[in-house]
Amino acid sequence: MFARSANSPITVVTGGAGFLGSHLTDRLLSEGHRVIGIDNFITGNPDNLSHLVGNDNYRFLKQDVSNFIFVPDDVDYIFHFASPASPIDYLEHPIPTLKVGAMGTHNALGLAKAKKATFLLASTSECYGDPLVHPQKEDYWGNVNPIGPRGVYDEAKRFAEAMTMAYHRFHKVDTKIVRIFNTYGPRMRLRDGRVVPAFIGQALKNEPLTVFGDGSQTRSFCYVSDLIDGIFRLSQSQFHEPVNIGNPREMTIREFGEHIIRYTGTSSKLEFHPLPVDDPKVRQPDISRAKSVLGWEPKVSFEEGIGRTIEFFKSRLCNV
Ligand code: UDP
Repeated sequence: MFARSANSPITVVTGGAGFLGSHLTDRLLSEGHRVIGIDNFITGNPDNLSHLVGNDNYRFLKQDVSNFIFVPDDVDYIFHFASPASPIDYLEHPIPTLKVGAMGTHNALGLAKAKKATFLLASTSECYGDPLVHPQKEDYWGNVNPIGPRGVYDEAKRFAEAMTMAYHRFHKVDTKIVRIFNTYGPRMRLRDGRVVPAFIGQALKNEPLTVFGDGSQTRSFCYVSDLIDGIFRLSQSQFHEPVNIGNPREMTIREFGEHIIRYTGTSSKLEFHPLPVDDPKVRQPDISRAKSVLGWEPKVSFEEGIGRTIEFFKSRLCNV
């Protein structure tokens, strides 16, 4: 059991075995935190934590945070990252997605209240739905279809934000909310259905790149180390309203596919498929709040980040 000490905070990361949870864990450990990871492995992967075996500053608890969270230790920070987070994951697990955004967030906030810990919610640009305001600023309330297939994620996260603000206002819990825009990098699952692993995996196998719709929809891709830096800064701030963290460099999905074809040198071609229901037509973060409140902006260029991600997937494909 970890006991509270002035110079080494004790920090819980729910969803600790996920893509972002595991990168966040590495950053927290490098900042001198002792970390307790929690995951139920619905979409998390134990491989993402294998390098921490034997690390005395890390412990792992297999729990489903939607049922109950039991942490006997003192706790200084809780980063609530547990949730299926790619469109095919939350289509495959609609009820667990709703439950973790609702009950899981309630339980994690309850833990923060009981332990007098700072709480940070991993929220999402999906709160803006298919946005009618572009780029998206934090004061935009969004355009979400509550009963569409993506509603299970979008509405769960919107509820999670409401719950977080209620615990802040009513119980005086020190809370922060990050709205995460499309993020990519090593440790994404090759088959999580998101466009970055999908296109890179297809390109490396010389298969067609599956562009949904006509590829004119836009996204803005942030490299994972930049995102984690913004989140860490937010956790150290005194700011309680939502903050967008993402890279404002916007491109169409067709352009993204063409970049992947060029960077991998593949013989693959673009192949067009039907657009999923409620797929947002545009997405680009306005990061002026993150700049002014956190002094944060992304540092890793698209070329550099994609290069590192391609190398990661190449090594994965060699090992399967
Ligand atoms: N997309 C695509 N082909 C794929 C996977 C995704 O064209 O194989 C598109 C998808 O329709 C969306 C964009 O790429 O417009 C980003 O999708 P992703 O699942 O990465 O994340 P989203 O931003 O939709 O949550």
